[in-house]
Amino acid sequence: MKITIPHMGNVYIAVKILFDGLGIDYVIPPLNNKEALSLGSKYSPEEICLPLKLMIGNYIAGIKSGADTILLVGSCGPCRFGEYSELQLKILEYLEYNVDFIVIDAVKSIGMRELFNRIQIVGSESKKRFPGKINSVIRAYNAMCILDEIESQAHFKAGYEKNKGECKRLLNSCKSEVLSCNQPDKALKILKEYQKRIKNIAVDYSKNPIKVAIIGEIYTVIEPFTNLFIEDVLMDMSVSTKRNLTPSWWLKDMLLKIIKLNSMKLLKASNEFLPLYIGGHARECVGEAVLASREGFDGAIQIFPMGCMPEIVSKAILPTISREKKLPMLSLIVDEMTGEAGYMTRIEAFIDLLERRREHVFAGN
Ligand code: SF4
Repeated sequence: MKITIPHMGNVYIAVKILFDGLGIDYVIPPLNNKEALSLGSKYSPEEICLPLKLMIGNYIAGIKSGADTILLVGSCGPCRFGEYSELQLKILEYLEYNVDFIVIDAVKSIGMRELFNRIQIVGSESKKRFPGKINSVIRAYNAMCILDEIESQAHFKAGYEKNKGECKRLLNSCKSEVLSCNQPDKALKILKEYQKRIKNIAVDYSKNPIKVAIIGEIYTVIEPFTNLFIEDVLMDMSVSTKRNLTPSWWLKDMLLKIIKLNSMKLLKASNEFLPLYIGGHARECVGEAVLASREGFDGAIQIFPMGCMPEIVSKAILPTISREKKLPMLSLIVDEMTGEAGYMTRIEAFIDLLERRREHVFAGN
């Protein structure tokens, strides 16, 4: 068995550390790029949401490098994500690729026993003993949490850094260094070193930069290629950003959902405007917007793929939150036709608006 995965933000780094630790044969497809998008768009239904198309591009790249099994997480409530694996399997069958899917689905959809069965299929490929397997899983989980923390600190501190561009440089070198390391213990050590370095980066907290919350559909907020590297763009503009949705957040949320203790702060914040689950992370998006206003952010940028059902609902609610909580918002919808020039102009205009608004408020007008 040779496993491949679709890209979802920095997940590939934790997966690499996991598979290296378990000694499992795997292929990490090239990071999302135009080729993956064009292949995925060519073979997927036109109206399906962007993540599915890019994943098809990733699978084809993985299969061409010898992968025969696709490992995918599943289920996200009543939206298309729950059907992704079925549709993707059909597309790959149509293309005459003979691959197996292992879908790590939510417990409430498949039950605990079936979940363990599926995990066991992957685990049985490893020659490690049980304690060694558990150790590999814990190490990969720690790596995921540390990398999310490094990213989060880099994105927020970019507005305060004394040496312009240092946060971005540190983040990029962290990712490339850890990716080029095939020894899981060493990879974790590298991450811990970067965790210290980002904590100790030189900052000037008197700067008071524009602060923006990045909210919306999880795939498009965590996968930089789909959002045209918005966090990098904002770092270059010395804007501090924060986003709650990360791979480690998703994992904790999925596990805590079993005992109904997931994301309580976010969901409580969303109650006033959207008290019900409608699929995807619409409730989280609404909750994040409310929290951003409470935490003194200057604005929020919502990103979601064209046709994303849950986020269309949250987009309709955000203007009310914006009005009532006095938080400017920008919604960016992405698909394979998104033009970079128009997209960047909208981001620049929004940041410009936030700066002017602040001057206006400080001037007491
Ligand atoms: S949340 Fe939106 S983009 Fe993601 S699978 Fe569901 S409909 Fe598609």
